[in-house]
Parts: sequence; structure tokens; C-alpha cells
Amino acid sequence: MRPRLRRSINGVLALILAFGLCGIPSVATAAPAQPDQIKKRVQLYDRVSVLTGLDWTVLAAIDQYERTMSRAHPKTRPLRETAVTGVYIPPTEWSGVLNPDEGDTEPASIRFFQGIGRDGSGDRLADRNQDEDLLFSVAAEVLRYGSVREDFAIGLWEYYQNTRAVQRILQFAKLYKTFGKPDITGNAFPLPLNSVYSFRSTWGNSRSWGGYRIHEGTDIFAEQGVPVRSTCYGIVEIKGWNRYGGWRIGIRDLNNLYHYYAHLSGFEKTLKAGDVVRPGQVIGWVGSSGYGRPGTQGKFPPHLHYGVYRDRGLVEWAFDPYPLLKRWERDERKSLKVHR
Ligand SMILES: [Zn+2]
Repeated sequence: MRPRLRRSINGVLALILAFGLCGIPSVATAAPAQPDQIKKRVQLYDRVSVLTGLDWTVLAAIDQYERTMSRAHPKTRPLRETAVTGVYIPPTEWSGVLNPDEGDTEPASIRFFQGIGRDGSGDRLADRNQDEDLLFSVAAEVLRYGSVREDFAIGLWEYYQNTRAVQRILQFAKLYKTFGKPDITGNAFPLPLNSVYSFRSTWGNSRSWGGYRIHEGTDIFAEQGVPVRSTCYGIVEIKGWNRYGGWRIGIRDLNNLYHYYAHLSGFEKTLKAGDVVRPGQVIGWVGSSGYGRPGTQGKFPPHLHYGVYRDRGLVEWAFDPYPLLKRWERDERKSLKVHR
């Protein structure tokens, strides 16, 4: 019912930084991109793909990872209103730390000062306000170690200095590859709408099942064995036992949200970490597992604990999934009526 704050290896320091610099995380999920934005992105990926030899799925994954970071840190990663790419490179990194001209666009002098800014658009300027220059500059940095998967992962790590970033980008690339398009959107309510269930807003409720700490999620009560479905397009990140969550599964989506389903009675057997799932796909069944050694069941009434966490780069924050659940339930009900 009450998963812990999931921490990276950089743990405590990251936590201090996050509290100190970023304040309270934003809770809204991003609106889906408009068709013309998607079209512009596709053109951008194609052009940078020609320049770098990188597959568009990888470029899209880098771009999307950067976009999720910019959304999580709008103050420290301001994006231009007209930006097509989500890439953000701080001025000093772009021009070089010792470069007296932070707005330098001259590729030769930027290189001299060891900045990473490059010209990807062919106008001989390395312009931090240009989408192709931005995405190309990141791609070029990442490619310094080579383009086969292992080298590429090292390049990602060297650039981001963060194993989580590497994992995200490889996950996103797999999703783009699986579905073959850059706009992958759609959600589902976690239980079949024709099953018997009930839920209410329990965010921050201290009287959650078995815990003293605030309740980070929504409990959806239903009979043992009711199917639990993925709410999103995503990748299975974790599957197994956790002392509080019991049999639990964690799924990462392209908005860099981690969807957490706990207290299951069992999993869909064929699913394993790294598998791609779709909204509405059955991933397990409602149960009452948890609060003890593996297999412990029945210490509370059966329900699905559903939590959503936003990856902010080094730490993840839970936010209240109740409004999302209400929206998905309503949307699905509407579409069922239409298709009847
Ligand atoms: Zn719960």
C-alpha cells in the first residue's frame, strides 16, 4: 500500500539537491502532443538520423527523456515556446565553461573552449536556439564511444552521469521500436469496467492498510482474482515480491511515469521485466498479498494498490493518481458506449 520513495544510487545527495533546488514537484501529466508537433519531431529525427547514423527510435528516446526532465524541472530547464526538441543544454555547457561569450555560436571557438555545442542544421552556426543543433549536439556527445548498443550505453552514461537516464532511454527506444511511431498515447482503467470495484481518493490518508506513513496511491477494492490491467503503454520494470506491496509489478511509460500495482494474488505468467505492455493488457490479478514474507496473504481485504511516480532524474516522487483514475474510467466508459 505504501511503497517507499524509490531512490537512485546517488540517494541522499540527490534527495538534498531535489529538495533544495526544485521545490514541490508538479503533479499534472502532460497534454499529448499535437499532430503538427509530432510531424515536426519526425522531420527532426529524420534529419539528425541522416547526420549521425542513429536510428530515429534512439533519437526519439533521447529527445523524450530530455522532454520529461524539462517537464519535471521547468525552472532550471526552460524550453523555448516554439521548441520542437525537449533537449536542454545549459549555456555554459554549450559554449564551454571558460568561454567568455556564453552566447557563442561559432563552432570553432566553442570547440576551443570545450563546449559541446555543434552545428546540426548546416548553417555553420552552433545555435542553442535551434532544434537540430541541440539534438545533434547531444547525439554527437553520446556517440563518442560508438554506436553499437554497449558503446552507446556507455556514451549515454558518460553524458548523463546517471544510470537511470541510460535505463530510461533504452526503455523508450524499445517502445518506439515496438510500435514504430513517435506518438504512442492511450490509457485504460486498471480493472475491467464491468467488474465490481470501488475506490475513493485516499491520497495522504494516514489510515492506510498497515502503515503509519502517508498513503501514496489509491486503493481500488475488488474481489480476489479480478484481472488487473496495465493503464498505459510501457515497459515492465520490476516484477516480484516486496515486503509491503506483496506481489507487485512496476511499469514505466513514455512520460517517465512509474505505475505501481501492489498486493496482487498473481502475475500474468508470460510477463517478465523488459516486456512491452499496452493499455488494458492483463498483468495480474487482485489479491491481498504483502506485509510479510513472500507469499503472505490475507492481512487486509483484497484490493489493488495503484501508485504513480514521476521520475525527476535522480529521485522519484509519488503523486495522487485519483484524478487520473477517474479520467481513465470516464474515457473508457465513453469509448465503450461508442463502440457498442
Ligand atoms: Zn494502498
